[in-house]
Amino acid sequence: MSHDHFGWQNKPCLVFNNVTLQFLLYLHHFTVAVVGSAVIRMKVVVCGGGVIGICTAYYLHLFNIDVTLVERSKVACGASGKAGGFLAKDWCTSNKGLNLLAEAGFHLHKQLAIEHNGSEVYDFRPLTAYSVALSDGESSDKQTKTQSNCSYPQWIDKLIGDCSTEKIGSTETTAQLHPRKFVEFLSHVNKQNGIEILSEENMCEIVFLSNAVKGVKLSSGKAIACDCVVLCMGPWTGLAQQWAPECPDVYGQKAHSIIMRPSKSIPAEAVFADSQEFSTEIYPRPDGEVYICGITENPVPSLSLPVPESVVPSQNSCQRLKSSIDQLSSVLCSGDVIMSQACYIPLTHDGLPLIGKLNRHDDVYIAAGHGCWGILLGPITGKLVAELIATGKTNIDLTVFDPNRFV
Ligand SMILES: Cc1cc2nc3c(=O)[nH]c(=O)nc-3n(C[C@H](O)[C@H](O)[C@H](O)COP(=O)(O)OP(=O)(O)OC[C@H]3O[C@@H](n4cnc5c(N)ncnc54)[C@H](O)[C@@H]3O)c2cc1C
Repeated sequence: MSHDHFGWQNKPCLVFNNVTLQFLLYLHHFTVAVVGSAVIRMKVVVCGGGVIGICTAYYLHLFNIDVTLVERSKVACGASGKAGGFLAKDWCTSNKGLNLLAEAGFHLHKQLAIEHNGSEVYDFRPLTAYSVALSDGESSDKQTKTQSNCSYPQWIDKLIGDCSTEKIGSTETTAQLHPRKFVEFLSHVNKQNGIEILSEENMCEIVFLSNAVKGVKLSSGKAIACDCVVLCMGPWTGLAQQWAPECPDVYGQKAHSIIMRPSKSIPAEAVFADSQEFSTEIYPRPDGEVYICGITENPVPSLSLPVPESVVPSQNSCQRLKSSIDQLSSVLCSGDVIMSQACYIPLTHDGLPLIGKLNRHDDVYIAAGHGCWGILLGPITGKLVAELIATGKTNIDLTVFDPNRFV
């Protein structure tokens, strides 16, 4: 994972047309960071305006790197704007490396919330979490929740049938934020920091000279000269195989969510309800709304995904989601659905994110495939990618996330 920091080519931080880019490709490349009295900054293009891309841009700026972010639709238009925003310190125990990343990610979120007044700006708060496992309705007369000794949130008041409930997260280990507000806020900070954010611009090619990155092309015809590219296109990241064939496969799994206004306010208690049919996650938010997600479909490869701006819920999926929570809680049952939506969870072959540099090309990095933990892992991923690009090393071992591991 080493990187020769002094090998960077220096290019001005401007958007060029194709002709200018071609011309730049033939220019002599400086290999020092200072020319005369002018400091030449490294130039990075980040592709994708989800939580991973926005956080990567944020941390690259802290290393004094010049960044342009390209987003084909709107910032946070995909999973990053439609996620639950639940954060857990120690729930990724299936893999040691992932667990370490999650723990560091949890701490970094707490730190960011202090730095940026997260509780006011993007609804960050600690919360408790409960699991509720439901059997089918057949055994409804055997036991009700109120007869059991389990701890459970009081607003889960309609449980009938065999069930087991458990407290699975405390205010020390679990928290939440509003993902769209978080990503839009950091995007705003990025703009204030001088980062160029090109929305509604589709990146369609990386321009190489030998193996070295020279720039990127957008489908509008614009070209941007740069030294390095970071691919953060979430479930669409596999499309980069057209530009860098060794980019691993990435998949998208459609997931549905609804946002409700309950008939009475609900405290800071997340509920994970498992029935035989599907799992439902319920996150009351500080703004009085309640976010509910569940109902997923089979993953499909990047190439088969619809374009981000055309993703809509599949027939009946959001209605089924609402029916499932009607059976749990009377305040939700009598509440109003104010949003029904769908998006794609970014997945990889082995369920672990891709974080690192592609071996075959100089300076093409990937940060994608964060599954159902992208909001938790967004800032720590962005920080580590920025460290890797700026210094060639990271404080956390990224070996298990190496994007070359499938080759
Ligand atoms: C229903 C649901 C609930 C979730 N809940 C949680 C949760 O509670 N906690 C948690 O930690 N995680 C959660 N997640 C997971 C999390 O939302 C994702 O892992 C994360 O948002 C992925 O972020 P991303 O930036 O990789 O991808 P995305 O948010 O998909 O962003 C990728 C961006 O790339 C852009 N793009 C694509 N192609 C191009 C191109 N060629 N040029 C330019 N731009 C392009 C897209 O328009 C998009 O904006 C949830 C996910 C879902 C679906």
